[in-house]
Amino acid sequence: MARKTSQAGIDLIKRFEGCRLKAYKPVPTEKYWTIGYGHYGPDVTEGMTITLAQAEDLLRKDIPESEVFVNSKKYVPVTSQLTQNQFDVLVSFVYNCGQENLKSLCKDRTIAQIGQAIIKYNKAGGKVLGGLVTRRAAEQALFNKPDAKPIPKEESMYNPFKDYDKLTSPFGMRIHPVHKTRKFHKGVDLVISPSNGEIKAFVGGEVLHAKEGATGSGFGNYGITVAIKDDKGYLHVYAHLSSVSVKVGQKVVQGQVVGRQGSTGISSGPHLHYEVRKASTPSFGYTTTEDGVVEPTQYLKSYYATEQKEEEPMTKEEKALFDALTKRVTDLEKIHNMDCPEWAKEAVETARKIKYQGKPLIDTVDGGSYDVYRLITILYRLGKFKQS
Ligand SMILES: [Zn+2]
Repeated sequence: MARKTSQAGIDLIKRFEGCRLKAYKPVPTEKYWTIGYGHYGPDVTEGMTITLAQAEDLLRKDIPESEVFVNSKKYVPVTSQLTQNQFDVLVSFVYNCGQENLKSLCKDRTIAQIGQAIIKYNKAGGKVLGGLVTRRAAEQALFNKPDAKPIPKEESMYNPFKDYDKLTSPFGMRIHPVHKTRKFHKGVDLVISPSNGEIKAFVGGEVLHAKEGATGSGFGNYGITVAIKDDKGYLHVYAHLSSVSVKVGQKVVQGQVVGRQGSTGISSGPHLHYEVRKASTPSFGYTTTEDGVVEPTQYLKSYYATEQKEEEPMTKEEKALFDALTKRVTDLEKIHNMDCPEWAKEAVETARKIKYQGKPLIDTVDGGSYDVYRLITILYRLGKFKQS
């Protein structure tokens, strides 16, 4: 398969060729004129001028012509063993020096020897040129530099449990810490500090349960439990919480706080029991055996591996912005639907007694917005509320 020049290689060529929009001859002995990013040939004539866009265009057409030679075993016998950096350097070289020089550079040489010999090609018209010395040195440096390694997938992957101090009990067979019997552990036990630390949703979705788990409900002995159904139909169970901060029917996003860690239900101490069930009905997907659950860590890893293909994860800055906006929306929701504040009570009480066209001017004080309370208070202080 024919290899292509990387952006770093294109940038290297651009940097050294420079861009000139009027035809020129770097050395007077050259047969043809040069224009743009070192485009040379019979199509360039004396006095010719082009635009920057045309120069870019010429470069885009010229680079593949150079690549053909670097991809050819006839010119570069070691072509299949070149790193991307070495490939880029040879494209830059052939672009600058032509295919015959490429052939002589690579003939009977190992990759290491090519790297050493490249700096000898620093003459034009029989003279050493400073520009060529610099260019060959830059090419040699890139040639000997190992390719940048892509970050291994494992490391770049979202680590679902990074906020937690420890995973105290994995998924699978274990001796139950309270019952002291051998039992299948259907989730993972995680501990966050402090003991009432915030528990955030590992995956977004719809809240199906957010209270103490009743016996027989599918969450008996789970204590205060939040259950969230994701877009694939799996149910994420957060058990033994001390409190919940979401409501049934609410849509939550990944990272949103759903409650606080606790030790409700049958629990040996403050921890989060996190379980992923394959279904959400009946009984919230509860099964007596391990058949109804999946290994949470693996589930999250594959869930996010597919997610990331569709959507780039947020950068730190984007995440900060997102969190700030989320908080702002929550704050706005609060002031748009708030109980009557202390400072407005007197005004509101008075306003309630006021009748307008036979009906009370305001018939409720519950869930007004901040602005409504403020307006009523201002009107009251201005003496606008008078019993008629
Ligand atoms: Zn557990």
